Amino acid sequence: MSVEQLSLSGRKKVVSNKEMTFIEKMYLWAIIKGLLTTIKHLFRRKVTIKYPEEVRAFSPVYRGQHMLMRDDEGKERCTACGLCALSCPAEAITMKAAERKPEEKHLYREEKYAEIYEINMLRCIFCGLCEEACPKEAIYLTKSKKIVKADYDREDFIYGKDKLVMPLEMAIQNTVTNTIN
Ligand code: SF4
Ligand code: SF4
Repeated sequence: MSVEQLSLSGRKKVVSNKEMTFIEKMYLWAIIKGLLTTIKHLFRRKVTIKYPEEVRAFSPVYRGQHMLMRDDEGKERCTACGLCALSCPAEAITMKAAERKPEEKHLYREEKYAEIYEINMLRCIFCGLCEEACPKEAIYLTKSKKIVKADYDREDFIYGKDKLVMPLEMAIQNTVTNTIN
């Protein structure tokens, strides 16, 4: 059986062991070919953009940073049931539940609330399963341009309630808009 018949893919290329000529040894043609490829790309449409001066349009199904929602009265919706953490494939969510005190009724909607709620943004894959699992509509992945910013320390990627809970002004604004509409 010849060597060529052994090629299973049929794409085997027989390499020539012929001595190179002087011109070939200077690699001139190879250099010119490389330069031509570079020059060709100079006139093509650029695929890169000058971020942050230019911002690419977000996809309609874009999933941004999470937000822990408030209800119409500005109370936190999350009841620390843990379903989001259970459904998270990246094990990015941790929380600590606490019992609401009578004087905290204006802060939390349910008798139990998340005293600590953290998402490790380095683990998160923005799949949206936490949003789907939540029975209280308490967590959403923002559809706007809210992105998780780059940082230097790993600890800074663990987002707590200070970064996740919906700003109170936004809850009030939503209520006003809903009332008007
Ligand atoms: S978006 Fe997905 S990976 Fe990120 S916290 Fe939610 S469930 Fe976990
Ligand atoms: S965000 Fe929703 S699913 Fe997660 S702990 Fe709070 S209420 Fe439960």
